[in-house]
Amino acid sequence: MAKILILGGTVEARQLADMLAGDERFELIFSLAGRTSNPLVPKCEVRSGGFGGADGLADFLEDKGVDILVDATHSFADRITQNAATASAATGTPCLRLERKAWVREAGDDWAFVASVEEAAQHLPKGARALVTVGRQEIEPFFDRLDIKIIARMIEPPEKKPLAPHKVLRNRPPYELQDERMLMRIEHISHLVSKNSGSEATAAKLQAARELQIPVIMIARPDAPRLPTAHTAQAMARLIEETI
Ligand code: NAP
Repeated sequence: MAKILILGGTVEARQLADMLAGDERFELIFSLAGRTSNPLVPKCEVRSGGFGGADGLADFLEDKGVDILVDATHSFADRITQNAATASAATGTPCLRLERKAWVREAGDDWAFVASVEEAAQHLPKGARALVTVGRQEIEPFFDRLDIKIIARMIEPPEKKPLAPHKVLRNRPPYELQDERMLMRIEHISHLVSKNSGSEATAAKLQAARELQIPVIMIARPDAPRLPTAHTAQAMARLIEETI
């Protein structure tokens, strides 16, 4: 039986765990950072909280006798991905990467690429009314700008309530095209700010921006270590079979 540690925090990570959980060839440990209240978890052993850096993760891999490490964390969670690669090299545990494909620009898109949330916040022109979809931990640089209006959409509320004219809309994906269109029209959105997560559940905002000719400020993915990669849970299940 192969012991697999799945580093989660994405829909795909949970899909993979659900897919492998009933398979008697595998014993799973599913790991979460512990940031979300009431996360959806698969039917397998689940642990929560950091490991204590790459060294802590390497110790965990050895203590538990993990055979394969699957990094299925979000493309913008670059610290844990780097730690996974380092711990894998230190212990000789194969590390596989499950990561959605990035979105690509299509005809009719007006995208500006930036490297960070700070750069995205600075890129917005004075007077902009921006729909910002980066999440509560990265919203501060946008709220610091008082010469623009930020409509920040997020799952959990930010730690600090924003000052007027900004506002927070709490919602959870998936989002439908008709709702995205309506939101952008009602709020008179002039710019959309997004990370390039590549998620199907949140892609409708890009179609709505395309239709309404709203410029998009797209935050590019951080550099990541090169690892054997699959883009879907199904493809990762095949990659695991080839690796054991
Ligand atoms: P990060 O900056 O790469 O990680 C920070 C620290 O959190 C890591 O060093 C690690 O602590 C711990 N950690 C992260 N993922 C973990 C996991 N699956 N299991 C155990 N510990 C984990 O990550 P982040 O950007 O804060 O994201 C945190 C979690 O939210 C990730 O699991 C990610 O998949 C999910 N998420 C992130 C985003 C995003 O935009 N960043 C979006 C959606 C979901 P130690 O060093 O102590 O081990």
